[in-house]
Parts: sequence; structure tokens; C-alpha cells
Amino acid sequence: MQYKITGTTRLGGLLGSPVSHSLSPAMHNEAFQELGIDFVYLAFDVPEYNLRDVVRSLKEFNTYGFNLTMPDKTEVIEYLDDLSEEAALIGAVNTVVNRNGKLTGYNTDGKGYTESVKERGVRIDGAEVTLLGAGGAARAAAVQLALDGASVLHIANRRSGHSWEAAQRLTDVINSKTHCKADLTALEDRRSLADKISSSALLTNATSAGMSPDTDVSPVNDPDVFHRGLVVSDIIYNPAETKLMRQAEERGCQAFNGMYMLLHQGAAAFRLWTGRNMPVEKIRQKYF
Ligand code: NAP
Repeated sequence: MQYKITGTTRLGGLLGSPVSHSLSPAMHNEAFQELGIDFVYLAFDVPEYNLRDVVRSLKEFNTYGFNLTMPDKTEVIEYLDDLSEEAALIGAVNTVVNRNGKLTGYNTDGKGYTESVKERGVRIDGAEVTLLGAGGAARAAAVQLALDGASVLHIANRRSGHSWEAAQRLTDVINSKTHCKADLTALEDRRSLADKISSSALLTNATSAGMSPDTDVSPVNDPDVFHRGLVVSDIIYNPAETKLMRQAEERGCQAFNGMYMLLHQGAAAFRLWTGRNMPVEKIRQKYF
């Protein structure tokens, strides 16, 4: 199908640096075409020092909105008019909607994550979850798990790592701003970690341990933690099967990667911009 740009086509896109590898332009443009929506989505290489001017221009250009990736997700907050609940709690924005010149920031990364979990048949409402990591992706997943009704969240990070203080802040935010009860464990404390996982229904790896090229690394060293009924979710998608997923599957646990988190965060942004559902199955088959 030929893409038609007209005098009424509205612009949006992805801001970050680098962005040329992103799947988002293909995914969103395909969905706009499929639904006959007169929008176009491009990728713009925007380092932090250019962000303020770019955001101001996009507002002037009457864009429908835009996505943000590293390094712009936190910096953008000061140039926006309003923030959604989850974006305020996460402290980062990946989606901006422009409503008549008013820019509102959202974070659909966490929604993308919880949607990918729910489509595996895992119930989040009332669930006890162990989440590894406290970086950007972990914060988004943790906040959305809590907002979606997880009752207990065991957060674990390396005590020696540079995200330890962020892990403490994340635990405090979950406890003070949501109904979920959060606690923090050092990844090095293997006995305590095993104890937390033993009562969890879902184990989420939101660290980069095991990501290519370090594919022989797992954030969990004790195979006995993979109890019957535990679902293991790794938000890494490169490689498609991580060491953690192999360990879990060898113990009979269902395990899946972060590929569909990517798809669903895009679908949630698409819904915010257009009020329509992305044709997710078509996009999944073609690009994932
Ligand atoms: P980040 O902000 O740099 O955080 C990295 C986290 O991983 C920190 O908690 C860090 O803890 C921990 N970590 C790193 N190496 C570790 C190791 N060897 N053992 C234990 N913990 C380790 O990164 P991010 O943006 O959150 O991304 C994390 C992962 O999520 C990446 O693999 C990324 O590709 C993936 N991701 C996936 C999606 C998706 O759509 N599926 C979206 C975003 C990110 P320390 O404090 O100990 O360093």
C-alpha cells in the first residue's frame, strides 16, 4: 500500500539518541495505514542538550505527540504541562500526547510489561511478585505491577550496585503511593532472595544480567528457587532465550522474554494518540 502524505497529515515520532535501530516507526506507520489514520511517525536523533528546543518546535508543529527513549525520558518532564499518575511515580516519560498545545507525559513501558504478563494468563491483581533490578525498566514495571493490583512486591538489587539507592527510593514510592506492600532484598543475600521467590507467583528479571553479549550470565544462581507454578518473565529480548529462562524451563516453569513488552508499550501509546486499538496481531506477525 502506498503511504499518502497530504496537507492534513499530522506528525509525531520518537526522540532519543540513538534511534535509527528502533522498530517503532515501522510499527506505528503500519498501524496508522491499516486503520486509515492520517498520522506519520518518524525517528529523530535528539540528544538531551537539544531536547527543549525540539519539544517546543513539536508543540508549534501541532504534532499529535511523540515517544521518548534514552537519554530523554526524564529530562523531558520539565518541558511538559502535565504528567499521568504512573509517569509521576516512575519519574520518566516515554509517551507525550499533545492536546491543543497542552503536552501530557505518560509512561507506557510498565503497561506494556503488565499487558505481556496478562496475555500469558498470569493474574496480577492480588499477586505476590519478585522483581529483580531498580533501573529505568524496573521502575516502570514495578510501578505498573503495583497500580495493576499486585499485593506484594519483593524488589531485589545488588547491594554493591549503583542502583541500590534507587531501589530504596522505589520501595518507598511503592509503599507510600500505592496499595502494594514492597520490600527490598540484596541480590547477594541468596537465602532471603530464595525465601521471597518461594512465596511469589511471578519472578520478573528487569536487570540487564544475561543481555547480549553477556548471554552466559543469570541474575539467579540457585536453581532451587524455581518452584512449581512460578512464572518467570525476563524483560530482556536479546537473546530471545536468556540463561534465566533456560534455568526456569529446566525446572518446569513457564518463561517468556520482553519482546511483547515492546509491542504492548507501543500499542498503549497508539491508543493514547488515536483513541483506537492498534491492530496488535497484524503488527506482531509482521515485526515480532
Ligand atoms: P539500567 O537503568 O541501566 O538498569 C540496569 C539494572 O540491571 C540495574 O538494576 C543494575 O543493577 C542491574 N544489573 C546490571 N547488570 C547486572 C548483573 N550482572 N547482575 C545483577 N544486576 C545487574 O537499564 P534499564 O534501562 O532498566 O534496562 C534493563 C534491561 O531491560 C536491559 O536488558 C534492557 O534491554 C531491558 N529493557 C527491555 C524493554 C522491553 O521493552 N522489553 C524495555 C526497556 C529495557 P546495579 O545497581 O547492580 O548495577
